[in-house]
Amino acid sequence: MDAQDTISRLPDDLLGHILSSLSTKQAASTSVLSKRWRNVFASVYNLDLYDRESIREARQDWRENSKRFTAFVSNLLILQGGSSIKKFTLKSHVGVRDGLDPAHVQSWICNVLERGVVDLDIFITFLGKIQPVFTLNLMSETLVKLRLGRWFIIKLCQDVSLPMLRKLSLYSVDFDGDSNFVGKLLSRCYVLEEFDFEESVKHGPVQIQWSSPSLKRLRIRFNYAREFSFDFPNLSFFEILYDLGSKFVDVKLDSLVEARLNHRLHYGEIWVTTYRNAGLFHVDSIHLINAISNVRVLHLSSVVHELLYFSSQELPMFDSLVCLSIESERKRGWGILPLLIKNNPNLETLIFKGLKHRLTSRTCGDVCGCINSVFNRSSCLSTSRVKVLEISGYREDSIEDLNTMRHFLAKLPCLELVKICAANIKVPIDIHHLLTLPRASPNCKIQVIHQKTSE
Ligand SMILES: [Zn+2]
Repeated sequence: MDAQDTISRLPDDLLGHILSSLSTKQAASTSVLSKRWRNVFASVYNLDLYDRESIREARQDWRENSKRFTAFVSNLLILQGGSSIKKFTLKSHVGVRDGLDPAHVQSWICNVLERGVVDLDIFITFLGKIQPVFTLNLMSETLVKLRLGRWFIIKLCQDVSLPMLRKLSLYSVDFDGDSNFVGKLLSRCYVLEEFDFEESVKHGPVQIQWSSPSLKRLRIRFNYAREFSFDFPNLSFFEILYDLGSKFVDVKLDSLVEARLNHRLHYGEIWVTTYRNAGLFHVDSIHLINAISNVRVLHLSSVVHELLYFSSQELPMFDSLVCLSIESERKRGWGILPLLIKNNPNLETLIFKGLKHRLTSRTCGDVCGCINSVFNRSSCLSTSRVKVLEISGYREDSIEDLNTMRHFLAKLPCLELVKICAANIKVPIDIHHLLTLPRASPNCKIQVIHQKTSE
C-alpha cells in the first residue's frame, strides 16, 4: 500500500485537521486531486492568505494577480459556508487602485467574524491617497487575538464587546467617530493581557487616558506629543516611544518589572539636542520616571538618557533595578550615567548597546575613561556592585572603546563576567590583550560572543 492510499483512507475530518496545519497555499493544492479533496479543503479552519503567495502561478501583471486572489478568497469563503473558523490571516502590500478592493476585504472580515473566528490577523498596507473605511462589528464572543493594520479607517456599526480578547495589535489604524476609541476599546476587553499600538500619521487625540486592570504587556509608539494618563495595575512589561513635548500627567504602573523607554527624534532636533542648547528642551517625564522606578529591568535609548541629563530633573532611586541597558551612539553623551549608576544600588547587570558616545568634558561622565582617564582616577563604578557587564557593538579597532573597556575593568570591583560582541565580525576581538588589562576584580572572566547580546 503506497503512502497516497494510506492518506486517502483517513476520514475527512482528520484530513481537514491535517490541511489546517499546512499553509493555505499547500492545502489549496490538494483541491485539484478530486471532488473529495475539494470538500476536505473546504473544511480547513486555519486560513493564511497572502496575495503574493496564496494563488498558484502568480503572474507579472499585478492587477491580474489581485483579481485572481480576490476570486480565490471569495470562492473559498463561499465554499466553506458557515463552518467554524479558528484563524484568518490576510496580508497584502499593494496600492489601493491596483490591489484589493476594500469592499471585498470588508466582506471577508465580516464573514469570518460571523463564523466565530478566534485569531483574526489583517495586515494590509493601503497606499492610496484616500484611506478606505471598513464598517465592522466588533461584538465577538470568540475573538482571542486581533491584529489590524494599516492605514485604513474602522467604523463601528454598533458598540464594542470583546470579552475573550487576550491580545490586541493596532498598527496605524484610525477610528471613525469617537476620539477616545482606544481607551473605550480597552475598557471593553476584560481579559486583555497584551496590547501593541502604533499611532497613525494622522493627528489623533492629544490626551491619552488608558486603563486596564488585566493588561500585562504594553508596547506603544506615538508620532506626536501627547498627554498621557495610564492606569495599568498589573502591567509587567512596558515599552514606549514618545515624542518631544509629551507629558506624563498621571501614570500608575505598580506591578512593572521591565520598562523600555524610547524617544522619537525628528530631523532638525538632532543638532539641537546634540549641542549645549539642548537644555532649552523641557522633557516633562518625571511622572513616567517615578512610575517606573520600581522596575527590575530598564532599557533607555540614547536620546532618553541624554534628555534626562539636560532636563535637570531629579532622578528617583531605583532600588529594585538589577539590569540596566543603555543604548549609545556617537552624537549622544553619557552625562547622566554616573547619576544612574549611583541611584541603582542593587544593579547586577549592566548592558551597553555600543560604547561610542559624544566625547566632551561636559557630556562625558566618569563611567567612561576617555577624558583624562590617566589623571582622573575616581569613578562611580568603584562603588558599584555590578557583576555582569555586556557590551554589544564593541569596536576592536577603536582606541576609545579600548580605553572605556580598560576603565570598566579597572573600576568595577565586583565584576564576575564580561560578555563582548564585536561590531564587525571581520575584526575579531583580541581577548588575550583584554585579559592582560588591570582588573579591580581579578577573577572576572571575559567572554567573546558572536551573536547579539540579550537585552
Ligand atoms: Zn566618554
